[in-house]
Order: sequence, then C-alpha cells, then structure tokens
Amino acid sequence: MSQAKLRIKLIDHTQNPLSIIYVACRQCYSDKFSGDIFDEVGSDSKKQGEFVSKVVMSGHESPLEHVKFTFAIEGVSRALTHQLVRHRIASYSQQSQRYVKESGFDFVTPPLLVKHPEAFAEFEKIMREIQNSYTKILEVLKIHGVSGEVANQDARFVLPQAAETKIVVTMNCRELIHFFAHRCCTRAQWEIRALAYEMLKICKDKLPEVFSGFGAKCVSLQYCPEGPKFTCKKYPLKEEIFRK
Ligand SMILES: Cc1cc2nc3c(=O)[nH]c(=O)nc-3n(C[C@H](O)[C@H](O)[C@H](O)COP(=O)(O)OP(=O)(O)OC[C@H]3O[C@@H](n4cnc5c(N)ncnc54)[C@H](O)[C@@H]3O)c2cc1C
Repeated sequence: MSQAKLRIKLIDHTQNPLSIIYVACRQCYSDKFSGDIFDEVGSDSKKQGEFVSKVVMSGHESPLEHVKFTFAIEGVSRALTHQLVRHRIASYSQQSQRYVKESGFDFVTPPLLVKHPEAFAEFEKIMREIQNSYTKILEVLKIHGVSGEVANQDARFVLPQAAETKIVVTMNCRELIHFFAHRCCTRAQWEIRALAYEMLKICKDKLPEVFSGFGAKCVSLQYCPEGPKFTCKKYPLKEEIFRK
C-alpha cells in the first residue's frame, strides 16, 4: 500500500495530424478529390497550421474529429475515472477490479487532507482498515471455495474511491478541446484538473496549431462564463463584458 502518483504518456496519435486536419478543412472549400489534396499537401506546416488555426477558431470543428490521441494513465483515483468516463465521445479501457486483485492497493491522497494532520491520519487509518477487510473477505471466501474473479468482484465493494487505477483513453481533437474547456477550469475537481492540464501540455506540444488557443473555456472565450460565485477572476465575467 502506498501513495499513488499521476503518470501519463501519449502512446499513440493519428499520423500526420496537421495534414489530416488541413485536408479535411480544405475539402470543405474545394471541388478537388481529398486524396489528391492530401498527395499535394507537401511539408509546409506553417501554411497548413495558419489555415487550420483560422478555420478551427472560427468554430468549424468537425475536421478535428479525424485526429485521435491515445493516453496511458496511471496513479489516478477511481473518483477521477468516474468523472472522466462521463465524457462519452471517447474510448476507455480500465484496469479491472475483477481480474486484478487489489491486495495492497495504492491510493490517491487529496492534498487538502495532507495539510491537516488529523484528517490525514484518519484517512490513512481507514485505507489500512479497508485493505485489511478486503484481504479478510477474500480469505473467508477462499475457505468456502470461492476465489479468483468471482471473489474479487464482490470483495471490491469495500474499496474506496481513493483506490488507484490505470486507464487507456483515446479522444479525438474536438473532444479533447471540449474536455479541456470543462476540466481545466478552476471549478473542476483538483485531480481531474491536474490530469487535464497534463494532457493539454502534451497536446500543445504535439499539435500547437490546434491546441494553442484552447484550455479552460475562458481561454478561447476571453471571458468567464461561470458567474460571480465561481469565477477565478482570471478573465472578466460575461456580464461585465456585455455591460461594457
Ligand atoms: C464543474 C463540473 C461539475 C459537475 N458536476 C456534476 C454533478 O454534480 N453531477 C453529475 O452527474 N455530473 C456532473 N458533471 C459532469 C457533467 O454533467 C458532464 O457529464 C461531463 O462534464 C461530461 O460532459 P459532456 O456531456 O459535455 O461531455 P461528452 O459526453 O464528452 O459530450 C461532448 C458533447 O457531445 C454532445 N453530446 C454527447 N452526448 C449527447 C447526448 N446524449 N445528447 C446530446 N448531446 C450529446 C454534447 O454537446 C456534449 O457537450 C460536472 C462536470 C463539471 C465540469
């Protein structure tokens, strides 16, 4: 049992991502066959990048769906993946708690609890107790002839949301922009926000022509749509802009 640490790795993405989006954008305004546009596209990434940025920032987003990014993620909690998988335009494959026994499970500790020793001590205590109960349940079931995935799938009912998990996530660029808009915002929960920022950093590095103008929704909107109660004040409120 130990503290889990976020690890993320881009394990694959669509080849020639900029050219693919460029060709998809160009097809919309051309009577040429897109196969020929692709063959003629050349290596002028500056020209392609400028065209793609302009089209995408104008709100024409469907060309972005042709390019996908696949991330390997570990060291996140089940609380995080429960939120992550709500984003439906994506593909997920997650470590199973049926097929993988959780003896000695790692867990994610909220930084706020670390700041308050009494809360942290309680948190660590219950993690150990859960571990003991989980192991005990498996032992009892084994005595009664039940083991493997049948035992694991029921013993897991005692596991906490803090339990560490691993997941493979594939999203296309349009969905990534949508995901960042919601999950890079300070209103998003801290753990999924940290993950979203790591993914954004990777995407900006691989495909700046698409991702440099995006982040939390305020980055592209240039105002905060969250209202006075929730704004982080990085951008003026929508109401303030309209008042002006
Ligand atoms: C700050 C914050 C707080 C939240 N709090 C809660 C909460 O308290 N309870 C809760 O249950 N959830 C909560 N959520 C989750 C939220 O409601 C969404 O389920 C989640 O953010 C996924 O967003 P999405 O549906 O836009 O994304 P995706 O599923 O990725 O969909 C992307 C877009 O595709 C379109 N789309 C997808 N499916 C459909 C469909 N069936 N019909 C029409 N259009 C569709 C929509 O335009 C959607 O925005 C919260 C999210 C955030 C960011």
